Amino acid sequence: MLGEGILLKFNNTILQSILRLGHGFLDLLYPQDCLTCGCMIPDDGELRHLCPSCFLEVELFRSPCCYLCGIPYQGMVSGPRACPNCLELKPSYNEGKTVFHLHGPMRALIHSLKYEKGTFALVDLVAVVLMSPGLQEYLTGATLVPVPLHPWRHLQRSYNQSELLARMLSRLVPGTRVENLLRRVRWTGSQTRLSRQQRRENLRDAFALRKETTIDPHNRYVVLDDVFTTGATLNACALVLRDAGAVNLDMVALGHG
Ligand SMILES: [Zn+2]
Ligand SMILES: [Zn+2]
Repeated sequence: MLGEGILLKFNNTILQSILRLGHGFLDLLYPQDCLTCGCMIPDDGELRHLCPSCFLEVELFRSPCCYLCGIPYQGMVSGPRACPNCLELKPSYNEGKTVFHLHGPMRALIHSLKYEKGTFALVDLVAVVLMSPGLQEYLTGATLVPVPLHPWRHLQRSYNQSELLARMLSRLVPGTRVENLLRRVRWTGSQTRLSRQQRRENLRDAFALRKETTIDPHNRYVVLDDVFTTGATLNACALVLRDAGAVNLDMVALGHG
């Protein structure tokens, strides 16, 4: 847990700065050029770092979709239906939503936030979440539980991107709050090259409940991450919460892919 208290304080400072500084000052730091095509972004654009034509490439997920991971289905579907990946995963959460396919401009925003210390991307990512049909209602009143980073990864990145997303969302969605209930107790390395089965094995016992935290079975908990790939990470987190007594337990992630 080396330095975690300091890091969390630092995270809050970043977030408060983003919200307090407003458009003008951020634009000095990050000129209004589109992150993916480099063109100038008009003042009335939907997003701050993607131009209107790049934003047109963004497909927000709409129903019908898998009730466990949010991936959309083609055509008409009657009743809740799970995709083959989720049927195999058998998640510990009751339902889940994702917001967009992880490709193109949205991938670039996530990549900036995650690997290039691009906290400027938060504003657009949260804006897209709030534009997603039904997402705001889905989050309303929930306790958001960010997927934690290993302390060393946290130190390296200087913030947990999922926590920053959760904190910004909690300021904008009524009745929502953030609780850091989980900690990563085992270094799992990068999972990008692992198969579904290997990811699951790799994540076994990787998370635990933080000390001196309690689960209120009356609360609705929503585990939140920036990306859903196979669901193994989110499910490993949900399993810890379920074992600790969470009953009303769901999942949300931004990018699917
Ligand atoms: Zn563009
Ligand atoms: Zn699914």
